Amino acid sequence: MSDIFQATAQQEYQRSAAQLKSAKDANAALKKSYERYDNLIAKAFDESTTKPACKAGCAFCCYYKVEARAHEILLIKDYMGKHFSTEKIASVLDTATANATIIRTLTPEQHLTTNLQCALLENNQCSIYPVRPFRCRNFHSTDAQACEHSFNDPGNMEIATGMIEEVAILADAHTQGFEAAAEQTGRDNRIYDFNTALLEVFADEHASKRYQRGKKTFQQAVEIISQD
Ligand code: SF4
Repeated sequence: MSDIFQATAQQEYQRSAAQLKSAKDANAALKKSYERYDNLIAKAFDESTTKPACKAGCAFCCYYKVEARAHEILLIKDYMGKHFSTEKIASVLDTATANATIIRTLTPEQHLTTNLQCALLENNQCSIYPVRPFRCRNFHSTDAQACEHSFNDPGNMEIATGMIEEVAILADAHTQGFEAAAEQTGRDNRIYDFNTALLEVFADEHASKRYQRGKKTFQQAVEIISQD
């Protein structure tokens, strides 16, 4: 593990752990961590001689399998409650329901190679962009054509979309720093499928209480077992 990875992960761990310890819920600490992340990654992109191909309106990656932690889903629910109309929330949940029906029939490998439009994608833009999960923030590409190729051939895992190594290292380190802090402060740090967790957070008012008590937040959502 590189020195820069360790230093970044450690620094984020300390900052987030201090904020999570005193917080009733994780929303404020996660928003602060996202702010630090965005500053860190913007600087890394500025300093890199290789530039990402990503731009607004390009959304091939929003058909990939999306994973999220409970604190991320709870923050997204909070954001949707403040910024979305009742009708818009219902429409998102309709798409998530259709996705979840398919996802529950898939093996993890099939899920990885099946295109499903994210329920939060609207006119090729992320409708929850300020609170999108780390998994989405961490993705970038240096080759938009490769992204399109991958979208058109989702079963082909050989297509490389090209990430900028120094950016990917910092992104991963920061994310792991926050997640380690969540775990160390007794929070649920399991990985959930985005669609099924989104449906449960709106359907079950006790989900946030389970999170606050350090219990398994989602009981019906598909849990993703990490291969790391
Ligand atoms: S949450 Fe936003 S960025 Fe992530 S897959 Fe969905 S639309 Fe794309």
